[in-house]
Amino acid sequence: MECHARHGSREGRKSHFKREEDDEEMAPSSLSTQMVTHTMGMGFGTGARTNPMREFIREAGGCALIDGGLATELEVYGADLKDPLWSAKFNTLGSLIHVSLFITLQVHLDYLEAGANILITASYQGTIQGFESRGFSREESETLLRRSVELACEARDMFQGQYLERCSTLSQLDAINYKHHPVLVASSIGSYGAYLADGSEYSGHYGQAVTVDTLKDFHRRRLQVLSEAGADIIAFETIPNKIETQAYVELLQECDVKLPAWFSFTSKDGINVVSGDSLVECASLADSCDNVVAIGINCTPPRFIHSLILSIRKVTEKPILIYPNSGESYDPDKKEWLASPGVSDEGFVSYVSKWHEAGASLIGGCCRTTPNTIRAIARALRKEFNASKQDQDVLEDRLMVNSASDHHASYKTDACACNIYK
Ligand SMILES: [Zn+2]
Repeated sequence: MECHARHGSREGRKSHFKREEDDEEMAPSSLSTQMVTHTMGMGFGTGARTNPMREFIREAGGCALIDGGLATELEVYGADLKDPLWSAKFNTLGSLIHVSLFITLQVHLDYLEAGANILITASYQGTIQGFESRGFSREESETLLRRSVELACEARDMFQGQYLERCSTLSQLDAINYKHHPVLVASSIGSYGAYLADGSEYSGHYGQAVTVDTLKDFHRRRLQVLSEAGADIIAFETIPNKIETQAYVELLQECDVKLPAWFSFTSKDGINVVSGDSLVECASLADSCDNVVAIGINCTPPRFIHSLILSIRKVTEKPILIYPNSGESYDPDKKEWLASPGVSDEGFVSYVSKWHEAGASLIGGCCRTTPNTIRAIARALRKEFNASKQDQDVLEDRLMVNSASDHHASYKTDACACNIYK
């Protein structure tokens, strides 16, 4: 699934918020520090409390863009990812081979250039258990996980540095555009089924022997490592069932995680999550967790997304995120995408306004989507924004005309009155 990781120097790393605020000589407040502040002060979860993701979306112009398929893009650059560790494997190689590292970084940069506001790390398939099974020590496994976050942070720093350099020579308008391009790094946590790589991430059926405690034990250390590696938010992706939702909620509370999180489910029927568990029940569980700042759907065909947004909206006021796949089918046995038409970038983008209208405010792509998909989504949202701005301008013009004619009418009335009195 959309299953990624990255890495960069944590020292000196600045989120968009920090840079803006530094410019204004204000105290830095990244999404995570806001989270800590709010957790200590008011916390999340009720209408009266502040949700930092809502503020981030506002800064991004009303809808923030999530990146697209990372594994897919790594393959475009020549990586062979037919492996249980998927893109995390490439990240592993990347730590050893500079060229590979450069390619991973380049894919992140491609997405930022395409307009993405959120980079998801390549840690989806990266688990301590998975790395250990390939001969890495516990310490090395944890270093690889941290590296996935650092790589994404490095891409953000490079992008923002380049952008600022360009802004110093370009117009004020570009500088304004930069301010509307905040960037967050989301640490990806894939499901237990993704680690098993036996197709259960697509069925959500883990068997009777797997309990909430089994899942908590499996995810605990990875969550701790990834939440302390310098990311802004934890992305629990491709959640296939209720039992794993419950495990994540309990872990966030028990581990006292200081980062906000998003929960993203998968569906294959537009009604329930892939296991057949109720999406509404899963989303309600997510809504009940103060750490969770956004809830949504990923790696699901575009045709199912609209009804799923409406279902989630019934049980939460938190921002809704969606990053569907291209609509193509994946064969988990062969570990390859089946030749099928899927949805073209134009087809994918034809849904965007409808999704946004239904309540999604974080939109991106999952498997088989590319920087071109993200660029097309950005274009569609810009058109929508311009159209609504035009409507607003027309409305304002009308109001001015009405107000002027009202004034004229009242002037005429006064004049008539004057005439009468004359
Ligand atoms: Zn996917």
